Amino acid sequence: MEQTARSSRVLTVTSPLTGEVVGTHPVYAKEQVRATVASARELAPWWADLGFSGRRAVLDRWRHDIADRVEELADLVRRETGKPHGDAVLEIGLALEHLAWAARNAPRVLGRRRVRGTLLAAHLAGTVEYHPLGVVGVIGPWNYPVFTPLGSIGYALAAGNTVVFKPSELTPGTGRWLAESFARVADHPALQVVTGAGDTGAALCRAGVDKVAFTGSTATGKKVMAGCAETLTPVTIEAGGKDALIVDEDADVPAAARAAVWGAMSNAGQTCIGIERVFAHTAVYDEVVAEVARAAAELRAGADGAADLGPITLPGQTSIIGDQVGEALASGARAVVGGERSVPERSPFADGVGSVVQPVVLVDSPRRATVQTEETFGPVLTIDRVEDMDEAVARTNATAYGLGSAVFSRRRGMELAARLRTGMTAVNNVTGFTGIPALPFGGVDGSGFGRIHGADGLREFCYAKSIARQRFTPPVELTAFDRERADAVFRRAIRVVHGSRPWRRG
Ligand code: NDP
Repeated sequence: MEQTARSSRVLTVTSPLTGEVVGTHPVYAKEQVRATVASARELAPWWADLGFSGRRAVLDRWRHDIADRVEELADLVRRETGKPHGDAVLEIGLALEHLAWAARNAPRVLGRRRVRGTLLAAHLAGTVEYHPLGVVGVIGPWNYPVFTPLGSIGYALAAGNTVVFKPSELTPGTGRWLAESFARVADHPALQVVTGAGDTGAALCRAGVDKVAFTGSTATGKKVMAGCAETLTPVTIEAGGKDALIVDEDADVPAAARAAVWGAMSNAGQTCIGIERVFAHTAVYDEVVAEVARAAAELRAGADGAADLGPITLPGQTSIIGDQVGEALASGARAVVGGERSVPERSPFADGVGSVVQPVVLVDSPRRATVQTEETFGPVLTIDRVEDMDEAVARTNATAYGLGSAVFSRRRGMELAARLRTGMTAVNNVTGFTGIPALPFGGVDGSGFGRIHGADGLREFCYAKSIARQRFTPPVELTAFDRERADAVFRRAIRVVHGSRPWRRG
């Protein structure tokens, strides 16, 4: 961050591809964040009153606008994050699938529906509907700067909330692009962006929003929760992971290996649901190692357009990756692809920007090594031999995280998936759960709580509104002081309905 002559602070974004400045953005101070939230609150009734169909029309226009300019947005994402252009297109396309689903399904999921009553409340008719909370603050990461925040923004908007979005300081241009696109299609800015670093995010938590949807690291998630606790502002936390892929003895090994390599290496391993650990049944372990090593060795990281993986986006992450790999190798691990030299000691540009880390595949790394326990967030994969799938399940679950996982097995895929303590599991594929918009996305334990995507993701940005309407006057009134007769009837009724010997009169 630097100071301009007017001494208002400015965020300068440096591309990991070239080391060049690719954008400057204002740093929103506390008061500006508050003012933005206040204007979002003024707009909230207008947006809510558009109703499901009015909002769907706007969200559909927004989707078309993004799709029409997909190459422009993908270029920007590439410039800010360094990821390959094709990967940026992939994440944008996936995000649009979700936007379409949220807008189309909001009335079905959130609209008024009748619920069944019980014998004792036969005179009442129950309905439930889901009302927007008001203003939702969204705090997003840089690794999927379109797909990840849109998972909250799109669903929050479809549910009838206005949104104030704080993108990562590494990808503010992408955040602003999304808001400008929205402004092209809507009469008023139901989506607004506040740019800045952590302080701006912290200010958003305290700016009077009705909910904060946070996606980022577990450590920052705890700070967000603490900030929101001051005002009892509810939060969803989509945090980090240490996802595993397990390979059973009857699995399609080449398919499992291809999936492991894509899951681990795509986006240079900077994926919350990236595969960081593989547990392979001893019967297929050697084949898994050979296939993974062959596929991973073919990949090349670089800043040029033909590279399979881009540079590491976050300055500072490279040394974490290097330390984890170095520690594992020093304590007995063996590299079957790459090694310590895959992680450069120095970055090509100032401030640690633009380091290119080549793929690393490790075997025999100790269980306690940080590469097995901490999120690596780089193109590094460990493969371990397990005696059976019970051990694979136990090892997968032996982590502080619980975001995603994958199982490759011909016969036992669903059974094994159900035993994994993660919010999402892909069976005979990797990360497939992101491609079905109806499936909720989120984790357990250190990976956070709450859900985006699907019906749960829509309800996450609402409060349930329950209504009990009296259909007729009941013969005995229970909710009155004068109820001598009612009490006797009620006593008999609860025995009949709930007692073990309903025929016995009391
Ligand atoms: P960070 O936790 O560093 O940052 C996330 C966001 O929080 C950024 O916008 C950041 O701003 C902001 N922030 C920082 N400090 C505060 C604060 N005190 N109060 C409020 N907001 C704050 O994560 P990264 O951006 O580095 O993203 C990578 C992490 O995100 C990984 O751990 C990854 O696993 C996780 N992730 C989880 C996903 C999921 O769905 N579960 C999906 C994608 C990523 P700034 O960048 O300006 O510092």
